[in-house]
Amino acid sequence: MSGQLAVYGGKKVVPEGTYKKWPPIDETDRRMVLASLEGANHAYGPNCQALEKEFAAWNGNAFAITTNSGTAALHMGVAAVGCGAGDHVLVTAYSWSSSATCIIHHNAIPLFVDIDFETINIDVNQIEAAITPRTKAIIVVHLHGLAVDMEKVMAIARKHNLKVIEDCCQAHGARYKGRKVGTWGDCAAFSFNQNKCLCSGEGGMFVTDQEEIYKAARQVWSFGETRSPAESRDYHAYALGWMYRNNDLTAAFARAQLAKLDRYIEVQRQNAAVLLETLHGTPGLILPTEPEGHFHNWYNFTCRLDFSPIGWAGDRSRFRDAVMVAIQAEGVPAGTWQRFILPAMTVFQAKNAYGKGCPWHCQGAAEVDYSPERFPVAQRHTDTHFGMTVPLRAPQGPEAARYTGEAIRKVFERIREIDPDRILKPMP
Ligand SMILES: *Cc1c(COP(=O)(O)O)cnc(C)c1O
Repeated sequence: MSGQLAVYGGKKVVPEGTYKKWPPIDETDRRMVLASLEGANHAYGPNCQALEKEFAAWNGNAFAITTNSGTAALHMGVAAVGCGAGDHVLVTAYSWSSSATCIIHHNAIPLFVDIDFETINIDVNQIEAAITPRTKAIIVVHLHGLAVDMEKVMAIARKHNLKVIEDCCQAHGARYKGRKVGTWGDCAAFSFNQNKCLCSGEGGMFVTDQEEIYKAARQVWSFGETRSPAESRDYHAYALGWMYRNNDLTAAFARAQLAKLDRYIEVQRQNAAVLLETLHGTPGLILPTEPEGHFHNWYNFTCRLDFSPIGWAGDRSRFRDAVMVAIQAEGVPAGTWQRFILPAMTVFQAKNAYGKGCPWHCQGAAEVDYSPERFPVAQRHTDTHFGMTVPLRAPQGPEAARYTGEAIRKVFERIREIDPDRILKPMP
C-alpha cells in the first residue's frame, strides 16, 4: 500500500515532467512545413493532393479527399451516400456530438442506438430493431480506436439496403478481422485534429472505394462544383456545396506525421499493454479490452468504475468525478470524455437545429423519441467512465505508462478514502 493520496496532501506518484507534448515534432515536420511555406500555392495545393494519394495508399482506399475537419468529411459522407431531408440515419447513443449532428447538417434525422457496455460501441444486436421505413444509412463510430463488429453491420446493411458511413475519427489504423476501418462501409471520415492519432492541428480525410460516392462528396466539399482537376474549374454551383477544403501548410504537416503514424500506433499499443498489466486485477476498476479479432489503436484508454466492491450508494457520477480529481492529483492527465449521452444533448432535446422545427418537422418527417431513458447502457458508461490519451501517446514510453498505472492503482487501493464532499465543491 502506497502513501497518502496526493489529493489529501500526500506525495504524488507521477514525477513532474514525465509526459511530453503530442505530437512529437522532428526534422521531417520542419522540412516539409517550411517547403510548403516557400511554395506558391497555400490553398488546396500540391501537399493536399499528395496527402490524398498517400493516405489512400496507407489505408487501402481507392479515393481520398483532404478536408478541414473530420466533421466535414462526415457530412460529405451523409450527403454522398444519398441521405436527404427527413431520412433517418442510425447512430450510436454515445460519441462526439458531430457523429450525429453531421446527419442534421444534411437535413436528415438521427435515430440513436444504445451501446454495448464492453466495447463502448453501438450495440450491433440492437441495430435491426431501430430500422424504420425511412432509414437510409448507418453511421458506425469506431470509438476510442476499437472497431465495431463490421461483419455484423455489413450483413444488416445489405439485408435492409442501407448505406454505411464509418466514423474513423479516433480509429486510424484500427482493424477488425485483419481489415482496416474505413475499408468496410461505403465511405469513411478521419480527423486530424490536435488530439487524434494523426495530428495536423485541425484537418480530416474522406475516403471511399466508389467513384460515384467520391464525385458526390467532392461536390459537397467545394462549392457544389464538379470539375476535376482544379485547373479545369468552371466556378459553377451544380448543387449545394460547402467549403470543406484544407490548406497546403496543414497538409504538409499531416504528410510528415502520416509517415510516422504506424510507429505512433505501435507505441500506443505498447503503452496500453503496460497499463493493462499494471492495473490488472484492481478491485473497483473495469479495464478496457481488445476482444478477439480486434486490433485496437488505443486512441483513448477508458476505464469504468465497478461500484460493487467500492460500496458507494450515492451519486455515481459525482463519486467518479472525485476519483478522477484524485487521479489527476497523482499527476495523471485523466478526464471524463463525454459527460452527456448524445440524445440528452440540447440540440436533440430541444430539436433546435435549423429552427422552426427543421429537420424533425420537415414535410413528411415522422416523430422520433430522444428520451434519454431509452439508452441505459450509454448512460451507465457516461456516469462511470474516465479516460486518458496523452499517457499512451508517443513520445511517452513504458516508464510513463508504468507511472500512470501505479498512480491509478494507488487511488483504487485507497478507494474507501474517496470522499466527494471533501474533494469536490459542494453540490449546488
Ligand atoms: C473528433 C471526432 C469527430 C470530429 O472530428 P473534427 O476533426 O474535430 O471535426 C467526429 N467523431 C469522433 C468520434 C471524434 O472523436
